[in-house]
Amino acid sequence: MNVPNKIKHFAWKACKNILATKENLKKRKITTDDICDSCGKAPESTCHLFWHYDKAKEIWSTSKLVVPFEISPKWTFMDVMWQFQRWTESYPGLVERTMAICWGIWKDRNTTRHGGKCREGKAIVRSSLWVLDEFQEANKQPLAPTRQPPNEIKWSPPQPGYYKVNVDGAVFSKRKQVGIGVIIRDSAGMVIAALSQKLALPLGALEIESKAMEVGVKFALDVGVRDVTMEGDSKCICDALQGLGDTASSVQNVVAERFTLHKLLEVLLFLIQKGRQMCRPTCWPNMQPI
Ligand SMILES: [Zn+2]
Repeated sequence: MNVPNKIKHFAWKACKNILATKENLKKRKITTDDICDSCGKAPESTCHLFWHYDKAKEIWSTSKLVVPFEISPKWTFMDVMWQFQRWTESYPGLVERTMAICWGIWKDRNTTRHGGKCREGKAIVRSSLWVLDEFQEANKQPLAPTRQPPNEIKWSPPQPGYYKVNVDGAVFSKRKQVGIGVIIRDSAGMVIAALSQKLALPLGALEIESKAMEVGVKFALDVGVRDVTMEGDSKCICDALQGLGDTASSVQNVVAERFTLHKLLEVLLFLIQKGRQMCRPTCWPNMQPI
C-alpha cells in the first residue's frame, strides 16, 4: 500500500481490531460504557465510527469516493478492507484514499475526545488526502527504462507459406530432468501449435538438443505442417543433420530422423542462432538429402 507509515500503522491496528475504540475498551474491561460519543445511539465499533454514524456518512459523501458495495454494520474493519481489495483493479487508488480518510476520521475523533475542536467533514477529507497526495508525489518512482539486452536475438518469420519450428532443450541436472519446448509458427508469427515436455532422463546438453530436434520434427509431422524451417540453437546438431563433421553417437537418432524428414517434409531449412553474440542466423537453404 502506497501510503505514509502513520496511515499504514493505523490501518494495521484497525484491521487487527486493536484501535482503542469504546467498544474495544469495554471488551478489555477498561471502561463500562461503549456508546459512541458523537451520536449516542450505538456502540462505538470501528464500523460504526468509520462508516455508519451521521458524521461518517457526511465525510464519505464529501469525499466523492465511490464505495462499490454496501457496508454492513456488522462488518469488522478487515471485512470492509477485503471488499475494497476486490475492487482495486477497477478503482485504482481507492483503498489508499479510503484508508487515508479513515485515518483522518480517527485522528479527528481522538482530538475531539481530548477536548480539541471537532472539524468539518470537508476539512477532514481535504487534510487527509493532502497528506496522502504529498507522500505519493514525493515517492513517485521514475519509470524504469525498458531493458533490452544489446544482442538479443529476435524471432524472425520464415518465408511466406512456410512454417517455422523452434526447438529448445534444457537440462535440470539437480532434478535429473530435461525439458523440451517446441513451438510452430506460421509466416505471420501466429502460433500454430506448441509443446512442452519434461522427461526424467539423465541426458547431457548435446543429447537434449538432439532429442529436442527429434521431438520437434515428429511434432511438426503430427500437426501436419510440411513446409518448415527448423530452428534450434545447437550448431553441432545442425552440422550433424547436414552431414558436416563427425557425428557424435549421442545425436545419431536425429541424423536417422533426417531420412524421415526428407520423405515427409517438402523443404527443410536449418537456421542456427548460437549464443547472444551471433545476431545473424546462419542459413543453409540448399540442404541435400543424404
Ligand atoms: Zn455514533
